[in-house]
Amino acid sequence: MSKPLSDHDKRKQISVRGLAGVENVTDLKTNFNRHLHFTLVKDRNVATRRDYYFALANTVRDHLVGRWIRTQQHYYEKDPKRVYYLSLEFYMGRTLQNTMVNLALENACDEAVESNQIYDPEGFLGLDMEELEDIEEDAGLGNGGLGRLAACFLDSMASLGLAAYGYGIRYEFGIFNQKIVNGWQVEEADDWLRYGNPWEKARPEYMRPVHFYGRTEHHPDGVKWVDTQVVLALPYDTPVPGYRNNVVNTMRLWSAKAPCEFNLKDFNVGGYIQAVLDRNLAENISRVLYPNDNFFEGKELRLKQEYFVVAATLQDIIRRFKVSNTEPCLSLFCPQVAIQLNDTHPALAIPELMRVLVDEEKLPWDKAWDITVRTCAYTNHTVLPEALERWPIDLFQNLLPRHLEIIYEINRRHLERVASLFPGDTDRMRRMSLIEEGGIKRVNMAHLCIVGAHAVNGVARIHSDILKATVFKDFYEMDPHKFQNKTNGITPRRWLVMCNPGLAEVIAERIGEDFIRDLDQLKKLLKFVNDEAFIRDVAKVKQENKLKFATHLEEHYKVKINPNSMFDIQVKRIHEYKRQLLNCLHIITFYNRECSHFYSFVTDFMLLLLQAAPGYHTAKMIIRLITAIGEVVNNDPVVGDRLKVIFLENYRVTLAEKAVPAADLSEQISTAGTEASGTGNMKFMLNGALTIGTMDGANVEMAEEAGEDNIFIFGMRVEDVEAMDKKGYNASEYYNRIPELKQAIDQIAGGFFSPKQPDLFKDIVNLLMHHDRFKVFADYEDYIKCQEKVSALYKKPKEWVKKVIYNIAGSGKFSSDRTISQYAREIWGVEPSLEKIAAPDDPK
Ligand SMILES: *Cc1c(COP(=O)(O)O)cnc(C)c1O
Repeated sequence: MSKPLSDHDKRKQISVRGLAGVENVTDLKTNFNRHLHFTLVKDRNVATRRDYYFALANTVRDHLVGRWIRTQQHYYEKDPKRVYYLSLEFYMGRTLQNTMVNLALENACDEAVESNQIYDPEGFLGLDMEELEDIEEDAGLGNGGLGRLAACFLDSMASLGLAAYGYGIRYEFGIFNQKIVNGWQVEEADDWLRYGNPWEKARPEYMRPVHFYGRTEHHPDGVKWVDTQVVLALPYDTPVPGYRNNVVNTMRLWSAKAPCEFNLKDFNVGGYIQAVLDRNLAENISRVLYPNDNFFEGKELRLKQEYFVVAATLQDIIRRFKVSNTEPCLSLFCPQVAIQLNDTHPALAIPELMRVLVDEEKLPWDKAWDITVRTCAYTNHTVLPEALERWPIDLFQNLLPRHLEIIYEINRRHLERVASLFPGDTDRMRRMSLIEEGGIKRVNMAHLCIVGAHAVNGVARIHSDILKATVFKDFYEMDPHKFQNKTNGITPRRWLVMCNPGLAEVIAERIGEDFIRDLDQLKKLLKFVNDEAFIRDVAKVKQENKLKFATHLEEHYKVKINPNSMFDIQVKRIHEYKRQLLNCLHIITFYNRECSHFYSFVTDFMLLLLQAAPGYHTAKMIIRLITAIGEVVNNDPVVGDRLKVIFLENYRVTLAEKAVPAADLSEQISTAGTEASGTGNMKFMLNGALTIGTMDGANVEMAEEAGEDNIFIFGMRVEDVEAMDKKGYNASEYYNRIPELKQAIDQIAGGFFSPKQPDLFKDIVNLLMHHDRFKVFADYEDYIKCQEKVSALYKKPKEWVKKVIYNIAGSGKFSSDRTISQYAREIWGVEPSLEKIAAPDDPK
């Protein structure tokens, strides 16, 4: 058998076409060797594979520098409106391959690297590009969808030539490394910066002070915030290249640094040594990412992080604005600046901008408020009440006393307006207040954002409709013009060209390469739905991807799977609303049917790649249940290799890039009305998997784009869920009526999957039977029926692949280029462009 083409060979083919392959391999080799010698201070006898990775990364980075400086100069000269994307998370993953793809350097680098002979105990070897790429640590500065969205948006903003900046925190520790020990999740610190980060540049010259604590003084000429503690914000810049347009934007992440005098002047209690040791207290602000997905944890350190990024960023924004606009012209601020808030996490931008304009710039309140509202826009990411940020007043009062005063004043004026528009409606006033009374008083950050922004958007059509109809109904009735939808998207560079070059190549052969920057062109593939050769090519790529992934699993996780089975994959954070438990019930039902020789399902390899927040008990129990089911199912000779359940540890961007291209079936099974959009669903669709899912989030629009016949939709619609909430959901009704469901639950409850500890899963059973907010049992029957339909179709490979093609052809809408173009035109007031800017001379 001939060796299948490696991904790099495939990318080589795709970039051959339409590319100016002028990059000089000799130059790259020279620079590679120069970096090995001068930057890494190594020779070939002592260089490790990591040294070669760093030499390559530095060589590639050199090609960014000229474009980066040029782009920023260009913005300085042209002075376009700047877009600031503020986010507590940027889930970037790796950078090397992304840079090579976007700069069209991949072929040249491949050649330069492969021809490099390095000494190995086995003899001299060419370096292997994929092996070098695998040395790079993921920049895991995010939890899941929200953080990955920010990363996809940066790629699209650069590719569309927007003068955009991502602003966030340079966490020293990103999302934890997950280990599975005896079936349980164990967390390890993600020390991603240990070997250094070749993609960032520290900018100590732009360090900015951020104030905390203290008190306010009211003087006739204004308010002073005094006796504060100062922490310095040290910026690190990372280049963000656009796709082959010579644009390089900046992601600026702030790191906390104690000032030299920290604790020495005013707070000196333990003397000099103690004061120096206490510098850690200040620097802890940027130490670690809070590992919660869709969950609010009201810790002071988190509130500090949120204010830290906002305060440092606004100083930067205003400084940059003043470079080209003289001070009295702050009225020009909103035509020149757009600030997008990724969820409420950076909501303090609203009172902070007010504080700067009123207290420091001495603008009258009304003028300052007008500027603030017209500058800020807010994206909502969830309707789950446990995820909404509601900060206790006393925490706020202590940490940010001036901001609390400003919020009270915003609220006073806001409620005055509510009262004038809805006279006598005191309950509405209570509901719409920024300050929640009753129990401990809290600041409702979503309300602050809606009031302080000119645009509020949900992230999929159904989600935006739910916002208007339920959670934000009162606000919608008052200001309907503020509410918009911006359905999420993913960047086709990372999520197709990079992760699935085989598919990208097969597509490019039919419709050319322009779909990479204009994903709607995938529609052209509809012509090929009945084209035998195309069907064969698409099927072949999928088979190759599955083989490759199976090999990866075998090498790295010592698990053997049947590459001809259906790869049925659910990868996402664990959350009750995402209903991994529904999938568990499907697996158990499948298993029970196999044991009774009722073969209704096709051979299946079920992969679950999930991650639980450390403090989320139920999520950790779900992991334990899945590993327990795996132990029974995978070792039962009756089932053999007809069903394997694999729980892969350490889910992250890089692992998603490996799993997504190998999937046949994508599980998107949240309770209708709970998943705001989902972006994992889009990645699978674009990579030729079929979806089994509920009418939730972006699934609704995916069904529309692919055609209802080409997606497996099951379960309750939002209206059904609402009706059931009114009537009351009774789990035991389903348990008593559906024998297979009863059997599965009885097995979990009776210790069938945990014989050594029969009551191990009693909490999960109790949850499902008595207080399941997400109504798993109500969708069980329809889900199983739908899985049977999936199995039936999978037995007809050609029919299956035709539906795959409808899905790929319909996935153009889900490019983040489309999403960003809509933000640009409908919220930011800027025009996207596919034009290139002039290329600099590359390094010699
Ligand atoms: C895309 C992505 C997500 C979001 O997945 P959903 O299924 O939409 O929740 C989470 N984590 C990573 C690493 C991703 O790449």
